[in-house]
Amino acid sequence: MAASAILRVEKLKKYFPVKSLPFSRKRSFLKAVDDVTFTLHAGETLGIVGESGCGKTTVGRTIMRIYEPTSGQCWWRVGDSAETMEDFFCYKNAQMRRIRHQIQMIFQDPYASLNPRMTVQDIISEGLKANGLVSGGREMINTVADIMEKVGLLPEYMKRYPHEFSGGQRQRIGIARVIVMRPKVVICDEPVSALDVSVQAQIINLLEDLRSEFGLTYLFIAHDLSVVKHISDRIAVMYLGKIVEKTDTDRLFEAPLHPYTQGLLQAIPVPDPHQRKSGHRMLIAGDIPSPIDPPEGCRFVKRCSKAMDRCRVETPALLEVREGHEVACFLYPNPRE
Ligand code: SF4
Repeated sequence: MAASAILRVEKLKKYFPVKSLPFSRKRSFLKAVDDVTFTLHAGETLGIVGESGCGKTTVGRTIMRIYEPTSGQCWWRVGDSAETMEDFFCYKNAQMRRIRHQIQMIFQDPYASLNPRMTVQDIISEGLKANGLVSGGREMINTVADIMEKVGLLPEYMKRYPHEFSGGQRQRIGIARVIVMRPKVVICDEPVSALDVSVQAQIINLLEDLRSEFGLTYLFIAHDLSVVKHISDRIAVMYLGKIVEKTDTDRLFEAPLHPYTQGLLQAIPVPDPHQRKSGHRMLIAGDIPSPIDPPEGCRFVKRCSKAMDRCRVETPALLEVREGHEVACFLYPNPRE
């Protein structure tokens, strides 16, 4: 895994206003993303995992500027070096145009994300034409045919429409549309969760092959830890708008620190019945609270079996408690104190 940063996300917040009760003067907000910071290194896959509603998709969409952040910043590396903050520029909507083709997104739903009235050729070449990356004519057709082959589609189908393809093939079209732009970073937003289990592994393997062939960097968003484990170098676990743990994939699975991560790992089904009987399963109690009215103190306090008085009044910061292993939990003392 290359160690040089390509994208830095700092103190990112995205709050959505929600309708207040009649006669109420208080404005309410859904705190989808609340103070999220991480660095994406060139060539790696950083997985973001958490239950539905934890804010992981909003992180991806805010980085892409589909959503305007409430506060916080995204920094994009300008040159080859990533030594100081001067090697990065902070992008807002206006600057996004400059780097748009370098950050691309693969969406969850291959049915909804493709325009049913466009042919595969038009879908794949749309971004190329909009960004002036091909001159048109023969060059464009050759580029589309080439990328179709790379994602496992027959180029002779380029005049067909999305409804003529299966779910897995449609996601391949969605992937081709992104990779043809030669991006540096791809945000994969639950790219296999709408697909049959039998097709999921094929798409994950394709994404891995494309990552090595094109030197891509992935931010891989998913709710399924076993999917994220397969593809990620590092994993960030999100709970109710915040990152609660972040470390290398192997370490997260071997020695998870946060009680929420421990519960998520325990909830992964074990295929071997002997292992299942002997293992102690610590499942997470209750439902995820509303992000409109999150608990005071630690966001996980209402579901945590290890909660202490302090957890109800103070919010734990995400701290590096062991080398390369960050956790937001009072069970682990701040090594700098
Ligand atoms: Fe549980 Fe407290 Fe740690 Fe939160 S800070 S996860 S409530 S022990």
